[in-house]
Amino acid sequence: MLRYVLKCPICGKEYTPHPLHVRCRECNSPLVPTISNIDIRYVLGLRIKDTNLGVWNFESLLVSNSFVKENYNRITMGEGVTPLLHVKNLGKMLGVDNVLIKDESRNPTGTFIDRGASTLITLVSNAGFRKVSVASLGDLGISVSAYARRAGMKVRVVMPHKVTPSKAYQTLLLADDVEFVSTYEEAISKVMKLRKSFPVTPLNPYLLDGYKTIYYEIFLSLKRHPDVLIVPIGDGALLTAIWFSIKELKGDVTIVGVKGCSSTVILKDISVEKPLYEPLIKDIVKESNGLVIDICEDDVLKATRILSLSEGILVEPVGASSIAALIKLTERNLISSKDIVIALITGGSLRDTAILRLLSNRQLISGDELRIGFTKSKILEALVIYGPLHSYAIWKIIREKYGIKVSLRVIYQHMEELEKLGLVKIHSYKRVSGRMRKIYEVTRKGMLYLR
Ligand SMILES: [Zn+2]
Repeated sequence: MLRYVLKCPICGKEYTPHPLHVRCRECNSPLVPTISNIDIRYVLGLRIKDTNLGVWNFESLLVSNSFVKENYNRITMGEGVTPLLHVKNLGKMLGVDNVLIKDESRNPTGTFIDRGASTLITLVSNAGFRKVSVASLGDLGISVSAYARRAGMKVRVVMPHKVTPSKAYQTLLLADDVEFVSTYEEAISKVMKLRKSFPVTPLNPYLLDGYKTIYYEIFLSLKRHPDVLIVPIGDGALLTAIWFSIKELKGDVTIVGVKGCSSTVILKDISVEKPLYEPLIKDIVKESNGLVIDICEDDVLKATRILSLSEGILVEPVGASSIAALIKLTERNLISSKDIVIALITGGSLRDTAILRLLSNRQLISGDELRIGFTKSKILEALVIYGPLHSYAIWKIIREKYGIKVSLRVIYQHMEELEKLGLVKIHSYKRVSGRMRKIYEVTRKGMLYLR
């Protein structure tokens, strides 16, 4: 008999599952659903019977299942059961034989969160609640709203007004009510105070219940544990859930947590300043002999591009962050070529189309064919700072300001090449010292290069 409990990850105290019991009574830590006595042979014997059933293919391993009545209504859209792709081209580039991508962008609303929305909404709708309120940074609100709709429930979403516009639009379409507030913390405290509806924050154990199925699927596909698992941290809920699955199955896996630089706008979803599960994340990473890798905007743009070109996989920035971390791990020789490495891609590209625009612009000027040298980049900089100039003036400026001592003939050559690359164009002609000279200016493409 499997024993379902809600466990405190900090003090270890266990509780009988209840929909409204989400925090430890001893230490106030968010609780995690877990099964205390799984036989690994039992898990290896499980089969995906019906993809339409989504995470409910793992029904016996879901704590949410432990107290809903018989003949209950499963709220599912076929979430989960996502591909685990062996990305050989990418692996070859990085010198690692076995890199696999768990592609969570294939979920109904495009993120792994759908797994948790299915378990949570199944539980609360079958427990008799008619309305949910969600505190969201974007994805959670979309996902829970979609599943609540499917369950015929009402939804209110409270979110910071700075969320990615495309995510705000999707939420507005799905929810009955959307309230915008200044910060994420404010959204959470608002939701907790609302009466007559079931409050959903990222800490809810029954979301983690669904997230855990990601690892069950990985384990079932490989028939063994991977060596390294790369997971974006975000608020920490996903990493915590996966760690509990690994422990249930007695695995020994190195966890690499991915964190976005705080300055990075495109990574705001994983740049949560203080993850809600922060102390726990630190312990997990340490216990697994892993590490946390910081990823900045350029790392993600590079990873998004490499992934799309090498494997044809389009992902959103947060999704690409685990690939960016993988690139850094291999650059630092932290992965052995024989390791089985799994990078979790948490979401797809259509969720954040602004980034595709940014990336396409960058791509115009960052291809290998356009890798321009130091002197050319200083010429562009001089043109931007000092305005349209002729070659002689450019020669003088880069000599005096940047200490670049080349002949005037070399400058003529650089200007010709920059013009061919479309980074500068002729602004006008001017007679200087009795000779007609070309006056150059930087093009839009040139500006993009400098940026
Ligand atoms: Zn506790």
